[in-house]
Amino acid sequence: MNLVLFGPPGSGKGTQAERLKTKLNLRHISTGDLLRDAVARGTELGKTVQGVLAAGRLVSDDIVLALMRDAISAVEDDRTLSGWLLDGFPRTVGQAEGLDRILDALGQRIDAIVVLDVDRPAVVERLSGRRTCTQCKTVFHVRANPPRVDGVCDRCGGALVQREDDRPETISKRLDVYEAQTRPVLDYYGGRVTMHTVDGGREVDDVTQAIERELK
Ligand SMILES: [Zn+2]
Repeated sequence: MNLVLFGPPGSGKGTQAERLKTKLNLRHISTGDLLRDAVARGTELGKTVQGVLAAGRLVSDDIVLALMRDAISAVEDDRTLSGWLLDGFPRTVGQAEGLDRILDALGQRIDAIVVLDVDRPAVVERLSGRRTCTQCKTVFHVRANPPRVDGVCDRCGGALVQREDDRPETISKRLDVYEAQTRPVLDYYGGRVTMHTVDGGREVDDVTQAIERELK
């Protein structure tokens, strides 16, 4: 089964992807991991990525799609896997079109799209409450998972801070980008790929179970 996991920042995509990967025996393919892996392996593409990132620029769609093609075709060759799971990709209609070309060439398709639906205030609450340890990077949440002592990491005693990405004004911008560029991807697939919308605002376990029920 080949799946795409969709949802705004803070919808819990990464967490659910990790769980579904194990339960459904899929390779979890995320853009961030692909880029890090290419750099670590020092491939030609990896050297290009390293240069782009070092210059503080965004990696082009062409590079991301080339890495995606390699990762997807590697899954095809691995008989121990049942398919792949994309998380956080495609995030624009242009990327979705590129992905379609790759899948056509490989004779593959997306079997289902899972949309994690979380309303804007809930996302803002989730992300703006996060506090990250400056030393060991452990993430806490002021309400859902507070540290024993305010502002201090339980694990290492380091100072907890709110990351730039988790500040309300940054969250608001990230959500605007999602609505403007990523939401249209769902219309692009509409009517062609089976879509399952799941309420992502509940407990992590409940969301996983709801996704599994939808995919049965
Ligand atoms: Zn710490």
